Amino acid sequence: MVYYRKYRPQTINELDSKAVRQTLLDVLSGKEIPHAFLFTGPKGLGKTSTARIVAKVVNCEKKKNDIEPCNKCDQCRSISNGTNMDILEIDGASNRGIDEIRDLREKVRLSALRAKKKVYIIDEVHMLTTEAFNALLKTLEEPPSHVMFILCTTEPHKVPATIASRCFHIAFRKAEPLELVRSFKRIAKKEKLNIDMEALELIASLSDGSFRDGVKILEEVVGFAGRKKITKKLIEERYQISNLEHQVSQMIKFLEERNTASALKLISELTKQGLDMKYLLEQIIEKLHSLLLARAGVTKEAKILDSNLQIGEIKGLVELLVKAHQELKYAILPQLPLEMVIIEWGGKKERTDNLSHIANDAQNTVSKIQSKTPSLSERQQQNLTENSKVNQSAFSSFASEQLVGSSKREGKSDFWTKFIEKVRPYNHSVAGVLRGCSLKDYSGDKLVIETKFKFHKERLDERKVRDILEKATEDITGKKVQVSVILKN
Ligand SMILES: [Zn+2]
Repeated sequence: MVYYRKYRPQTINELDSKAVRQTLLDVLSGKEIPHAFLFTGPKGLGKTSTARIVAKVVNCEKKKNDIEPCNKCDQCRSISNGTNMDILEIDGASNRGIDEIRDLREKVRLSALRAKKKVYIIDEVHMLTTEAFNALLKTLEEPPSHVMFILCTTEPHKVPATIASRCFHIAFRKAEPLELVRSFKRIAKKEKLNIDMEALELIASLSDGSFRDGVKILEEVVGFAGRKKITKKLIEERYQISNLEHQVSQMIKFLEERNTASALKLISELTKQGLDMKYLLEQIIEKLHSLLLARAGVTKEAKILDSNLQIGEIKGLVELLVKAHQELKYAILPQLPLEMVIIEWGGKKERTDNLSHIANDAQNTVSKIQSKTPSLSERQQQNLTENSKVNQSAFSSFASEQLVGSSKREGKSDFWTKFIEKVRPYNHSVAGVLRGCSLKDYSGDKLVIETKFKFHKERLDERKVRDILEKATEDITGKKVQVSVILKN
């Protein structure tokens, strides 16, 4: 976390989001600066850092024409290191009652000690009780001129409209990869890192729109690269994301070639690695979707995939995969629906460029699956048999493996899916992280999650996240369960 602390944005210009930068520059350069802001959006997008920057903008002692804070004067420095007595950061979760807010109202009246403006930054403001909100509202209705409020929340719908309407609202969204690259470049330059653009882009795509997650990865990468130049390849090798992106492309290639054996082998490997099948399916569908749009001329066909799949084929495949996605919920084995798609698709006749014909064919396949009564043509049957012969070894090995203790596995994977679904409403991005992890063990009062990535473990080990995981487990099992996260290898 060294980089994160060191390179936390200190000026408006250093913020990731172009939209937020622009809005702040506009509103802070105006004559009337709002006395209350509401910052909304998911965790890890820099709401609190931004609040501190705003506090500096209104209090910097050395500002001339520039809006940006100098970051050198006493005010700026004390705000950066959290010692400014006039900038009060309040955690809404632990100060949610009427007494705390009454206390705050009393103190709001007192003028600032040194600063031009007292700034109250209330984090997790949605946690306040109704009484506390009412008390806060009175202050917001008649704010003393020496006070500014910055309310932050991950759950804007829980903030009463009466409060929200008195604030200048800025919505923080997940950063685009390009926005993150801009921020990482800033760090790379200052740290004099030997890293290429492709590597930065890869890190950005792994960061799930969060600067915080991204710098963690960057730091890890710098750590293991030593003196070597940091390239995309180096990161891929290290993270074995050699990777999901690559494996998804590989899978699509196998499907295109009707190479059923290799496709099934790949699934078997990925299952062993504990990859979430729903996630894999979604990645494949997403890739095909981009390809479809490119083929249809909607987007530019820029290095999406090295593929010769025709539009009708893509359509057919997507339909099968979407169906498989729906069936996942009830699947006895999570990999089964995808395997069925591969076998079904591989058994279909060779490719032709007659688009409508293929599209019709795909339609038939879908309805066959729907009716669950396969009635393949003779030729297709023959193809299927031939294909299965080739696949025999791959297929039988994974089939027998599944049968052994399948009921136990079924319980485990069912539980895992349910668990991720439970976590999602609490925190979408944590659910996303979990998809990349696997359930190592669940017995009685202990639940062990396994992950290959250090930054995943760190995320899941955060106090608040851990609370969510335990809450979700309790929701399902009805009892307190101790959750732990271990690193694979
Ligand atoms: Zn300053």
